[in-house]
Amino acid sequence: MVKYKADHYGIEEDIHMKCTTLLSGSSGNCIFIGGEKTNILIDAGCSAAYLQKALAQMHCSPREISAILITHEHNDHISGAVHISGKFGIPIYASPLTWKNLPFYEDFLPEERHIFEYGMEFGELSLDFFRLSHDACQPVGIVVQENGRKLAIITDTGTITPSMYRKVRGADAIFIEANHSRQMLYQGPYPYFLKKRILGDRGHLSNRQAGVALRRLIGENTKYVVLTHLSQNNNTPETAYREVMDELALLPEIPCRVSVAPRMSPHPLLIL
Ligand SMILES: [Zn+2]
Ligand SMILES: [Zn+2]
Repeated sequence: MVKYKADHYGIEEDIHMKCTTLLSGSSGNCIFIGGEKTNILIDAGCSAAYLQKALAQMHCSPREISAILITHEHNDHISGAVHISGKFGIPIYASPLTWKNLPFYEDFLPEERHIFEYGMEFGELSLDFFRLSHDACQPVGIVVQENGRKLAIITDTGTITPSMYRKVRGADAIFIEANHSRQMLYQGPYPYFLKKRILGDRGHLSNRQAGVALRRLIGENTKYVVLTHLSQNNNTPETAYREVMDELALLPEIPCRVSVAPRMSPHPLLIL
């Protein structure tokens, strides 16, 4: 069994699901999830060398990864997928429409294009999916469960829909996009069409949208909230944290730890 160490939060166990972001933002996204015996990645927007180095910090090797799941076809989620898959022999899974829109679709044989299925399992990890609202062909959010522990991943979406609330509410850990500060985006240098895209229903969640959503998503079991996919130009870790916490302050109490995923380095490993 692979041993993990959650050094920043001082917890060391090896019976529960572990998870973290390896990098997060418009330059690249990759999430690591470790079950008792099975490890998977959500998205692969990094190089093989970076992945190897980031996993080594958790005493894990890319060869111990069972699958790469692609949430959608944007480059920041797939840039390293082919190389990582080929180098370490890791199968790639995506929704049927996403596969057709992946730039490397033709490079894979039909039997190599693994498809998401609702309720699918990787070893002891069971997965569920929900639709996101984003300008990709079939973007999905993902819920991963093991031994009654639940991790929910909501990234790259312009809105939160009722089905997301149903699937995610009360998860032990919620990784949610806090892409931009509206104020910074309005005042920033982006051209009008890009601002409109980001702010639209098929764009990205602002810090305050994430905070408002979290007021309904956080339940009594929620231990960790990680704010992900911060914009380099229209956000800062401090601004994201402050704007989300402003919204959460309306709750009677905040039962969980809220942290921000670094853009270019791993977040401390979380043990659920
Ligand atoms: Zn993205
Ligand atoms: Zn995207």
